[in-house]
Amino acid sequence: MPSLLLLPGDGIGPEVMAATERVIDFFNRRGAGFELQHGLVGGSAVDKEGAPVSEETLAIGEAVDAILFGAVGGPQYDELSYEMRPEAGLLRLRKHFELFANIRPAICYPALADASSLKREVVEGLDIIILRELTGGVYFGEPKTIEDLGNGQKRAIDTQIYDTYEIDRIARAAFELARTRRQHVTSMEKRNVMKSGVLWREVVEDAHKDGNTDITLSHMLADAGAMQLVRDPKQFDVIVCDNLFGDMLSDIAAQLTGSLGMLPSASLGAVDERSGRRRALYEPVHGSAPDIAGKGIANPIAMIASFGMALQYSFGMVNEAKALDGAIAAALADGLRTADIAHGVTPVSTNEMTDAILGKLEKAL
Ligand code: NAD
Repeated sequence: MPSLLLLPGDGIGPEVMAATERVIDFFNRRGAGFELQHGLVGGSAVDKEGAPVSEETLAIGEAVDAILFGAVGGPQYDELSYEMRPEAGLLRLRKHFELFANIRPAICYPALADASSLKREVVEGLDIIILRELTGGVYFGEPKTIEDLGNGQKRAIDTQIYDTYEIDRIARAAFELARTRRQHVTSMEKRNVMKSGVLWREVVEDAHKDGNTDITLSHMLADAGAMQLVRDPKQFDVIVCDNLFGDMLSDIAAQLTGSLGMLPSASLGAVDERSGRRRALYEPVHGSAPDIAGKGIANPIAMIASFGMALQYSFGMVNEAKALDGAIAAALADGLRTADIAHGVTPVSTNEMTDAILGKLEKAL
């Protein structure tokens, strides 16, 4: 039986997760057989279990096929120590399960093309993926210090480090992804000024030659890539880059689609020997949105679409994933919008948006 651990988290996390559980129930009524376990993460886990993610929760995560994660954080937790902060729960999960590949799709639903800051013709029908290396690079490299130089000056040091295997596995993940799409990978780095960029390109080339020449590979300097993303984003299919550039480029891509409440993501690790599936955590890009928490108005689409990515990448249920995506597009095309994407339309609640998506799914499946 396919199994999932649901970690709703804080703020609007539980609200959008409840909406997603209704979608999972829908598939279960049609025989999908998802077995669900529930756990705490973030501030709610600190409050009840004394840590932003407990050992028990990690153990349950080991036993399931995939994790669905809501959002964590809130002003009441801002003064906690670094290790106890809600975000530490997410970092711990990523590290524990070695989730090295972060997939962020940027899809622009036709009904929302006007919500983008770019012109409709530039973004309408956009469907690209940013694949970001998530566990290496400058965010983790040592030394990472601020030194006092003793002359009234300080020196800050961050270290960008990449080993061959880290680049090789993310490059291969990019080729694998592109094979299910439009067979084009663009690798972005800064080989003109960074040694890690030189190695990055070399290893990506080697991984391409080794069994992946059915995929078209292009290279672009990351700064030029950022410019191309806003000039003509539809030229891309899968963009692969390191942790730092991926962080920036995926936020640019996010803005192309209009709203934070629309963006799902997946973080994948190595293939698990027991299940034959890649370790995986699926989560919306947005945070816990304390400003609207408890009001029942959060947009559930990013969380529901994150489950859609689980259908596709963890469970091979490609038709169901497409049907779910189609149901979201159809509900939006009918004019149903939560407040964040309303743009003049009378907004609907989280529940009403979910009802509309479920109604479209009923018709499609
Ligand atoms: P945020 O994403 O929570 O909210 C930014 C803005 O977007 C807010 O105005 C919010 O109302 C709106 N928004 C976000 N998601 C929405 C949705 N689904 N529907 C409607 N509107 C939505 O980012 P923030 O305000 O910078 O951070 C709030 C808290 O979330 C902080 O504690 C932060 O650390 C945390 N955070 C967590 C994650 C995560 O869990 N992965 C990611 C980012 C921020």
